[in-house]
Amino acid sequence: MNGTLAMLAVVLAGAPWPAGEAQLTVLPLPPPASRIRIVVDAGHGAPGNTGNHGCHCQSEADETLVEARALAERLSALGFEVLETRTTPVGTRYPQRIAAIERFKPHLVVSLHTDARAEAWPHEVGADGTICWGNASDPGFSVLWSDEGPRSVVKAREAWGRAVSRELRAAGFFPYSGEDYGSLYRTDDEPACFIDARPPKQRVFFLRATTVAPVVIIETHHALDAKEVARWREPATHDAFAAAIASAALAVIEHR
Ligand SMILES: [Zn+2]
Repeated sequence: MNGTLAMLAVVLAGAPWPAGEAQLTVLPLPPPASRIRIVVDAGHGAPGNTGNHGCHCQSEADETLVEARALAERLSALGFEVLETRTTPVGTRYPQRIAAIERFKPHLVVSLHTDARAEAWPHEVGADGTICWGNASDPGFSVLWSDEGPRSVVKAREAWGRAVSRELRAAGFFPYSGEDYGSLYRTDDEPACFIDARPPKQRVFFLRATTVAPVVIIETHHALDAKEVARWREPATHDAFAAAIASAALAVIEHR
């Protein structure tokens, strides 16, 4: 393709996510045939655990709380039975969350996080003079799970994780390549899906803490990317995200 044609192709396709003009789709959903119980975990926000800090110095715990509350509200409106593990800036510790999840006996568990990937450069100065770091070159979501535990549980995590990635991509969310994860995660066949590959004692606790239901983490976006952070402050992004999660849940529970 010559330069002019290549430029025309980019114009016709529109700028990719997270550019402001990249449109997301709210996937159409059939009414659920059964009452699906789903846990929405706002990642971090245990005492002393804020997670990463993004390009506006926003904390991961605050971001995931907004995302989780928006997701829970929308899934409830769609007929899901939802357990939120945290509804305040500082919530319970992880073992208490796991105990609450096991009491709830969910079909599915999703934990929301954000990534702070790769190298970063000074982006802005926060209110208290702190430098906030940014990196606009690695946007996108990823889905993480663990292959520890009984085979049936691992297969269920795989099915849930792959369905989440498939539906998020169908809705227009951008799949992260994982290039900065290095040896921390093994790449799955499904784009944007990764399996925890840290040395056994360093693996992510939440991913392997329960076998009561399949657990996946979604790194919803890159907290260092100002454009992607801005897109995640739009209600339309939460609408498209929730519909994609609902669609994935229906696919794995009702085999649609
Ligand atoms: Zn996190």
